[in-house]
Amino acid sequence: MKSRRRPYSEQRPFDTGGGVWSVPVPIPGNPLGYTLVYAIESPAGPVLVDAGWNAPEAWLALRDGLGAVGMDVRDVRGVVVTHFHPDHAGLAGQVREESGAWIAMHEADTALVRLMRDFQGDAHRDFQADMLRRAGAGTVEVEEVTGNRPRPPAMPDRVLTDGDLIDLPGRRLRTIWTPGHTPGHVCLHLEDADRIFTGDHVLPAITPHIGIYPYDRVDVDPLSDFLESLEKVKGLGHLEALPAHEWIFHDTAARATEIGVHHEEKLRRLATLLAEAEEPLTIWEIAGRMTWNRPWEDFPPILRGMAAGEAAAHLRTLEVRGIIHRVTGVDPVRFAIHS
Ligand SMILES: [Zn+2]
Repeated sequence: MKSRRRPYSEQRPFDTGGGVWSVPVPIPGNPLGYTLVYAIESPAGPVLVDAGWNAPEAWLALRDGLGAVGMDVRDVRGVVVTHFHPDHAGLAGQVREESGAWIAMHEADTALVRLMRDFQGDAHRDFQADMLRRAGAGTVEVEEVTGNRPRPPAMPDRVLTDGDLIDLPGRRLRTIWTPGHTPGHVCLHLEDADRIFTGDHVLPAITPHIGIYPYDRVDVDPLSDFLESLEKVKGLGHLEALPAHEWIFHDTAARATEIGVHHEEKLRRLATLLAEAEEPLTIWEIAGRMTWNRPWEDFPPILRGMAAGEAAAHLRTLEVRGIIHRVTGVDPVRFAIHS
């Protein structure tokens, strides 16, 4: 399947059939390459699923890509955002400015966007630096990771909850709340066509980042949420998936099963790692010992920060399952296997 990966330069807008067009929008400087924005036709103007990264070349790709399939960005009726991340929500605000479209997003991600918009500059940097330090990160890593941050997305006008039908005349497009990658991630089930827009939840070859921020939170368990959300999508049957990255594929249920197995294996390896450790380990030490797609030494600080978030999410799930525990009264926090 991996052989099907093609760079953005080889992507073209195309008719996927059934009144749905795919418009690739580049993500500048990101190895993921592009977001697949989908335009669903309706008598009242197209509705977009996601909008792409907020950058001038991405805007031109979206505008001209819609033009190439006979649509005008000024006619867009609405933008449903699968989740608040900048490669999905980034351009939604500009589409709204051009066309007067509504922007719809799940209530949990809407709450995060509100927080991001209220929480800028030094306060955010201090928060992030403190989070990294508490996880056992080094000083250089703290300095490098805290420098970078995209602009927060536009505030949505319509807040979605699980099961809501999207305002799309003549079609049945239902909101399927699939928390995990973000707390308010949604898939959109086109019930009249046995197809589902999967956002980042179910992708054909890669798996979405599941992390906890700050790393030592104990009030959430996003990996368990994600695994439950995979079951939810499986329950809808063997649908055709229209994902936000990579390519369209058949059988969401089969792919959701594979992704679940991948995480269960990762959880098992992590438990083994802790069972073999001589003493309780910090999140940073654990992340450094886990198996990634490249050696830990080669990770730039930003990716170390994300890997630590991913480690934290897996640790939290093992903790909730009663397999490991966090050692109390130490800073940074440490984890150990239950003996
Ligand atoms: Zn994402």
